[in-house]
Amino acid sequence: MSKASVNEKLNAEYKQIRFEAEQNLEDRLQAALQIPQFKALYVERKAIALELSKKNTQELKDQYQKVSKELLDLINNNKIDLNIYFKCKDCKDTGYINGKPCHCRLAMSKRLLKAESNLPKFATATFEDSKFSTLKVAQAKKMESIYKDCKRWADNIDNASKRTIFLMGSVGTGKTTLSFCIANELLNNGHSVYFATAFDLATLIIDKQFNRLQNIDNYYNMLDADLLIIDDLGTEPQNTLMQEGLFAIVDSRINENKKTVICTNLTEAQFAKRYGERSTSRLTSASFAYKPSFIDGDDLRKIKC
Ligand SMILES: [Zn+2]
Repeated sequence: MSKASVNEKLNAEYKQIRFEAEQNLEDRLQAALQIPQFKALYVERKAIALELSKKNTQELKDQYQKVSKELLDLINNNKIDLNIYFKCKDCKDTGYINGKPCHCRLAMSKRLLKAESNLPKFATATFEDSKFSTLKVAQAKKMESIYKDCKRWADNIDNASKRTIFLMGSVGTGKTTLSFCIANELLNNGHSVYFATAFDLATLIIDKQFNRLQNIDNYYNMLDADLLIIDDLGTEPQNTLMQEGLFAIVDSRINENKKTVICTNLTEAQFAKRYGERSTSRLTSASFAYKPSFIDGDDLRKIKC
């Protein structure tokens, strides 16, 4: 999802919220106008206001004040509610305070980005709650330093020189959890993310090629996302069309300075054997990729990380 389309969606959402608030007030006003006394004063006050806009005399001003007072007394005595109710009192449902996005707009943007991210529901891991204290010292040190590097990268994503993060490691060493931490860090900072297993992504690519995508938005959310996470690369079926499509996407993302995180259980040698030297060197080249050494050790799924 691109920033522009997030903003477009949010603007439309706020337009709708304000419309509903105004409509709600309009409904109550129409109900109040059924009271003859209210209607008479309301119409009279409007007529005086119109006169006042043409000639600003003291007599008209006095009249206006008198009718306004009578109208207000009537409203109070009959408990007529003509307040406008905003969902957010802070920004009055404009989404902005002094030109800066209101907390309600930031929260809405986060919800929208998360909804379109394809992240699984359980992908709640953040850098803040990552703990390595139960690991062996060497593994803990290594993971801590990789997590630190990834957090720095995520916090500086717009200017990061590394366009891909290449996480190789044995099953259960926390690569996917780390990718969730990166995803949530970016979502919190208002960036778009798309998460897909290599299998899902390959299916998306094939379906797009054969024009049988059920939801084209998924495809473009994936393509436009500030960050694409490809999980479990190497587990998708070995199919030339899929692999070419997959690499074309990653390659175009590198060229467009969009960021990609790749998680794989393969070693670099296995990776090169499966995808060829050219793709491997393109994906893991030191000038584009942050590639920590192969992560192995205890299965982190057995501990809270
Ligand atoms: Zn607000």
